[in-house]
Amino acid sequence: MSAKELHIDLGALSQNLRAVRKEIAPSRHMFVVKSEAYGQGLERVVEVADAEGIEWFGAFDLDTALRTRAIAKPSARIFAWAVYSDEEIDRALAADIDLGVGSLGLLERTISRAEATGHTARVHLKVDTGLRRDGIHPDEWAEAADRARRAQSAGTVQIAGVWSHIAEASDHEDDLAREEFIAAVTELGEPGAIRHLAASAAAFARPEFRFDMARVGAFGYGIRSAGGPADDQLGVRPVATLFAPITHIVEDAVTIGVGSLDGLDSRLSGKLEIDTPAGPRVARRIEHAQTIVDAWPGATIGDSIAVLGGQARLSATDAAELIDTVGEEILLRISPAIPRVYKR
Ligand SMILES: *Cc1c(COP(=O)(O)O)cnc(C)c1O
Repeated sequence: MSAKELHIDLGALSQNLRAVRKEIAPSRHMFVVKSEAYGQGLERVVEVADAEGIEWFGAFDLDTALRTRAIAKPSARIFAWAVYSDEEIDRALAADIDLGVGSLGLLERTISRAEATGHTARVHLKVDTGLRRDGIHPDEWAEAADRARRAQSAGTVQIAGVWSHIAEASDHEDDLAREEFIAAVTELGEPGAIRHLAASAAAFARPEFRFDMARVGAFGYGIRSAGGPADDQLGVRPVATLFAPITHIVEDAVTIGVGSLDGLDSRLSGKLEIDTPAGPRVARRIEHAQTIVDAWPGATIGDSIAVLGGQARLSATDAAELIDTVGEEILLRISPAIPRVYKR
């Protein structure tokens, strides 16, 4: 009997990374891995990206940054933007991690930890351009810029970058954010600081958002935006596919051994379609540990079925669109207990 597995197509990952690079050149690509490479398993993904020549990794937290550091080539730059405590800052500095700094308080703390440990902290100052989640408020930007420049003169800080994050929900709001970003860059007046603003959607759709570097995660994994351009327009394809075995067959229904407790979203009941040799079939009901699908001739217990993803009828984003969410949510819910199986 085959098993539940999340297949990760490393060839598709490589091709996607090349497609991203080509699309956004001459801007650089920071490949975002967030926490667990969007559920695809950090280590192998970083290994492949490193071999593809990725020079910048975007790691959400310290743990991910350190795991990435252990795999990527020594010259790789690793950017982490959720490093807050003194102890974390010390460990990040020791591992040569670039730090995203989104408040004056964190800037002060980073400077004092750099002084205390004798490191030069490479900081990327984050300006809040409207999301009001995290980032230095425009009213405090001049003060932060001044503080960072003084620390830079003293050798404790290198202002490596200036950045912000945009919603990518409406062009108008993004345009306003971009104007605020440009104002902050001008105020900072550090021509050597790498400017990075866009994530996947804006980096592809709006060249004026690319600046020196774009932080692209989703499209690297072939996760297109819900309601956005199709895979072939983007030149990427989904890397992950969820497979599960047929466990039971009755006259009119086939049971597949994967369910909501494995992370398959039960809101897809009655909506998810899978491909079979006899044509598409609807998943009538997603239960805790299994999914009941309309039967098809020739179904055999133990057959491995592509439920969702690149090799399935519906990609994560296709499924997401049926229940008004995004592909990332569909993929990130898939239980970490399901083995990731890597294919070339
Ligand atoms: C997740 C994230 C990205 C990447 O976004 P994608 O849409 O996956 O490309 C970039 N920057 C920040 C700060 C993020 O949190």
